[in-house]
Amino acid sequence: MNSSQFGIWCILMSGAMMLILLCIYIEQAVYKSKGKKWRDAYPTLKEYVSIYPHCKTDRGIKCFNCSSFQRRFIWWDRSGQGRKVFYCQHCGEYLYRSNG
Ligand SMILES: [Zn+2]
Repeated sequence: MNSSQFGIWCILMSGAMMLILLCIYIEQAVYKSKGKKWRDAYPTLKEYVSIYPHCKTDRGIKCFNCSSFQRRFIWWDRSGQGRKVFYCQHCGEYLYRSNG
């Protein structure tokens, strides 16, 4: 194996590693949310705001746990359509779900 082949091999291997890590990350996110049933699992945004009125601010919805405004969501269904669960990007707490 010469040096240019080795370079290509390194790129391929690091690409493969990235892909594997990404898959593990997605799997864990899905698994974490699948622990509960959709309708029972999380409140809707409306319910969330009624449970945590102080979380509704002029700047938007904040996390009840750490007051962060940074939210992300994961798809509930693998199809990547429809149901979403929003979670706090800062502390990882799940906040509310989309309607549906
Ligand atoms: Zn938080």
